[in-house]
Amino acid sequence: PESQNYLLSSIRSIPDYPKPGIIFRDITTLLGDARAFRRAVDELVQPYVGLKVDKIAGMEARGFILGGAVAHQLSAGFVPIRKKGKLPHETVRIAYSLEYGVDEMEIHMDAVKPGEKVILVDDLIATGGTAVGAVQLLRQIGADVVSACFVIDLPELGGRKKLEALGVEVRTLVEFE
Ligand code: IMP
Repeated sequence: PESQNYLLSSIRSIPDYPKPGIIFRDITTLLGDARAFRRAVDELVQPYVGLKVDKIAGMEARGFILGGAVAHQLSAGFVPIRKKGKLPHETVRIAYSLEYGVDEMEIHMDAVKPGEKVILVDDLIATGGTAVGAVQLLRQIGADVVSACFVIDLPELGGRKKLEALGVEVRTLVEFE
């Protein structure tokens, strides 16, 4: 549809970044285009209008930009998930797999109340390693993770299936091969 084409064409592709052979999908061009940014946020929000959503969780750093806007639209709170060492209060930490190697991310242990309904937001899902780690963290502190949404899906990398296998509904706006 026309709106998907508009979003797709607002995303810049950078060959050989961050490594030779990788095509990086750069959403700074989408964010800088007022119409595309608004449309992306509206489309992320739309399936959840009228549902009970307590909090949006966003992953550092692009998940903060999109997640903050989605939280505002849904009148929900926002919970940051960060790289280790950045959050000042008591945290829960988890190791997660990246394309090459592992890293650790954290969440404040009191960021949600038990049973609160949380939606995870990020710019892109590839292998799903980051999002799976985020869901595990959220569940460890008692969240009910009802859905996860992303602007971009790279379906060949299988992230959506990994999240769905954890019982999390996945919504995405555009795909790249
Ligand atoms: P995954 O953990 O393999 O699913 O990778 C997704 C994470 O890496 C997300 O936090 C993305 O922001 C980031 N990421 C991976 N590839 C790209 C890309 O091509 N463009 C933008 N972000 C990416």
